[in-house]
Amino acid sequence: MILEEKLKSEIRDVPDFPVPGIIFKDITPIMMNPVLSKEVLEELKQSVLDLGITKIAGIESRGFLFGYPLAMELGLPFVLIRKKGKLPYHKVSHAYALEYGQAEIEMHIDAVNETDTVLIHDDLLATGGSASAAGQLVNNCGAKVAGFSFLVELEFLGGREKLLPFTENILTLVR
Ligand code: IMP
Repeated sequence: MILEEKLKSEIRDVPDFPVPGIIFKDITPIMMNPVLSKEVLEELKQSVLDLGITKIAGIESRGFLFGYPLAMELGLPFVLIRKKGKLPYHKVSHAYALEYGQAEIEMHIDAVNETDTVLIHDDLLATGGSASAAGQLVNNCGAKVAGFSFLVELEFLGGREKLLPFTENILTLVR
């Protein structure tokens, strides 16, 4: 079975979570399968090898699950992009609009700089709001976005369009 099929068979659809009408893609069964997890890591690694990445930034919180192991596999520094108020040291922040209201993400001030080309990683691409905000935060620090990687892309939400202004390197394992 190809990797995409294996992932599809493990990812669990949870109806009406977190609110009625939403079908949530639950990726936790992938983490319960260490053989498949290794395959995911290897595929991510091979797909981003040629992008000239200097750092990987993971988006809280499921972006940390494969982002950090991927960084270790590639021998690269890993940086955390977190929701406002979670990081302890001096920070740079970026506020962005949600469908209802606003959100703010932060990164440590010394996490990336103008010498960096950064891979931004998260578990899932939906509307692209979180990933494009992460791209903006990275750009605000003077760094380039080398690529985005996700386990899952919900194509019908068109999030990819929001990321194309940063880079065409948008890797997704399941569509
Ligand atoms: P976006 O900002 O609309 O692209 O939503 C992506 C963010 O929301 C990611 O950080 C995901 O972890 C989370 N997310 C949205 N929908 C799902 C889902 O169905 N399963 C898992 N995470 C989701």
